[in-house]
Amino acid sequence: MARAQYLEDTCKTALNRVPEMSRIPFRWTVNPYRGCAHSCHYCFARAYHTYLDLGVGEDFSSKIVVKTNVVEVLRRELASPRWSGETVALGTATDPYQHCEARYRLTRGIVTALADFRNPLSILTKSTLIVRDLDVYRRLNEVAPLTVSMSVGTLDEDVRRVVEPGTPPGRKRLEILRRFAEAGIRTGVLVAPVLPGLTDDEEHLDEVLSACAEAGVAWAAAIVLHVRPAIREHFMPWMKQAYPWLYPRYVDLYGRRAYAPRAYQEEVSERFARLRLRHGLAASGGGRPMPARRQEQLALAV
Ligand code: SF4
Repeated sequence: MARAQYLEDTCKTALNRVPEMSRIPFRWTVNPYRGCAHSCHYCFARAYHTYLDLGVGEDFSSKIVVKTNVVEVLRRELASPRWSGETVALGTATDPYQHCEARYRLTRGIVTALADFRNPLSILTKSTLIVRDLDVYRRLNEVAPLTVSMSVGTLDEDVRRVVEPGTPPGRKRLEILRRFAEAGIRTGVLVAPVLPGLTDDEEHLDEVLSACAEAGVAWAAAIVLHVRPAIREHFMPWMKQAYPWLYPRYVDLYGRRAYAPRAYQEEVSERFARLRLRHGLAASGGGRPMPARRQEQLALAV
């Protein structure tokens, strides 16, 4: 991977209102960074880099925009009489604990501000760096609802190293999640994305869900891979080079559409639901109900 450049910038607003029809099950998000050095090849947030006139390929993982004033702006917004105190979601676009958070500490500042204002939070990351801030999460958990979630698509290291080259191993993520569960914090795992032909079989899903249960995770949900047109130009050539024997199947599934056919999604959903129940895991991490049309498209949260 290319060495990352950090493009420091300022923001006018920190809290972003999520459009009603979005697939994100929360109304408000904060994103301290744009771009992500974790460099997952399937990442839908790659598309957002084009809004900055940057590319969806290497630019996404090597040109990271840092909103240096995000904590100060957020504190102003949380103090406003217009703010309703709704749950804020972190990690919905790019990873709030990607590598540069070790230096900038913006996510720590955001969580500290939410704790000071007793504001509910739901956070999703793939990074083990989150454990650095366990003290702040403990404080927030005492005064407001909190869910800490990890995205763990697979425990198969041969797949992870190829598909998500900048991330820590799934087992390490679950070890960190166990620390949060032991601290009395509600934890969840998003098994995402489920990759056709790579991680969608009984053995792979059972391995992840069994390890989740063992780590004290409260809930687990799955999302089958989707490939939106905006990232297809990166994803499909990468797939052809990384897994040439699977490429024809991916052309069949995603060549003309963003979402896999409904029959395939239902097959994965049924398998996942059965295994989730077997391991005693709940189905959902909370948030606002997802619009029915989106649920249908995604066939997830089984
Ligand atoms: S960690 Fe999340 S935001 Fe970062 S590249 Fe991977 S999927 Fe995208």
